[in-house]
Amino acid sequence: MDFTLTPEEQAFRDEVRAFLDENLPPEAERTPEFYGTWQKRVREKRWVGFSWPRDVGGGGASIMQQAILKEEMAKRKAPPLGTCFMGLAWVGPAIIEYGTEEQKRRFIPDILDGAYHWCTGYSEPDYGSDLASLQCKAVREGDAYVVNGQKIWTSIAVWSKWIILLVRTSTNPRDKHDGITCLLVPMDSEGITVRPIKNMSGGALFAEVFFDDVRVPVENRLGAEGQGWKVTISALAHERSSIAEVASLMRHLEGLVALARECTRNGRPALHDPSVRRRLARLETRIEAMRTNGLRYLTKQLKGEPLSSETSVNKLQRAALEIEIGDMAVELQGHAGPLTRGASPAKADGHWQHVALAWPEVVIGGGTPNIQRNIIAERILGLPKD
Ligand SMILES: Cc1cc2nc3c(=O)[nH]c(=O)nc-3n(C[C@H](O)[C@H](O)[C@H](O)COP(=O)(O)OP(=O)(O)OC[C@H]3O[C@@H](n4cnc5c(N)ncnc54)[C@H](O)[C@@H]3O)c2cc1C
Repeated sequence: MDFTLTPEEQAFRDEVRAFLDENLPPEAERTPEFYGTWQKRVREKRWVGFSWPRDVGGGGASIMQQAILKEEMAKRKAPPLGTCFMGLAWVGPAIIEYGTEEQKRRFIPDILDGAYHWCTGYSEPDYGSDLASLQCKAVREGDAYVVNGQKIWTSIAVWSKWIILLVRTSTNPRDKHDGITCLLVPMDSEGITVRPIKNMSGGALFAEVFFDDVRVPVENRLGAEGQGWKVTISALAHERSSIAEVASLMRHLEGLVALARECTRNGRPALHDPSVRRRLARLETRIEAMRTNGLRYLTKQLKGEPLSSETSVNKLQRAALEIEIGDMAVELQGHAGPLTRGASPAKADGHWQHVALAWPEVVIGGGTPNIQRNIIAERILGLPKD
């Protein structure tokens, strides 16, 4: 690995730093107005969708430029670049790879502008890990598909305007991966019902989505009929690589160290307890290992080699870290650990209780740890299929 910056890369890093000096106030001073202005400014710089081709409105950046931008942003705890999370993380890249020119024109600018949200309709009540067995059905009738079936655990379905949806268009495929088709569907289509599901941290971030004779124009199909699995594999790799971000873990860890300073054990800051320090050091070492792993992926990309299943390694590692950080934060606070927002004496207004209960999104969403282990075993280590 050689990460010495070229003069152009150095100049770009200086440009990012200068921009941040000018436009990014300290966290405590960030107002709602600031967030609006921030999104407008980073969009003007083409830093939203920075890696996407310039002809669709992206920044056309090199992999190294992306790495520099991400690193500088993370160091300064900058807000996200863009607001349409799923659109930017995997719907947009899938449209760029498999979409028609018309689809690119129709959807990409809105994703970059954060005009509305996308949600993801993959999982079904009986098919999550075994996604390729999905049963939600679409039958072609003239210039439309008629969709019937159900999805579940659809995050942010309640306020999304569009859904990237996987349906079965062939009930008699040679292989279950064939016969799946990807459709882009407006959430206000007639026949769609959304029923929110309350999660264990009290929010209702995800939902069941029912499709009852929903007509979807053929022009909303992404990729060829029956080739939806290919589209999904590429989208899921994007999901895993974005979930595998190290920056948010580092932020959690900084917060955890501050919490250990604030909480007491035997009348002294918990941070003075050697067992607490050991645990924190171990967490930091593992996050650092994840960061180094990320650099290995970067090296591979810089050499022009495509990334495939490697992102599963960091997804697996992050899953374990998220759970441990949440558990440790609750433990440090003793009896106040489980208290929620608004309850006295919850530290950071119940933030850590939320962290401790929010892990399923990172751990289960995008494929459970067992599934990541299977992927690593079969596709990276070449072990026999289970
Ligand atoms: C917070 C959150 C947000 C989500 N958001 C979305 C979303 O927006 N859109 C969407 O489509 N889905 C979403 N999901 C669903 C998620 O993708 C599925 O929950 C996940 O893929 C697991 O599927 P399942 O729940 O059906 O569990 P199952 O597949 O039934 O798995 C149950 C258990 O069995 C294990 N298991 C299953 N198969 C194997 C195997 N072959 N080998 C070893 N172990 C195995 C699993 O690891 C797991 O521990 C979300 C889930 C969560 C928790």
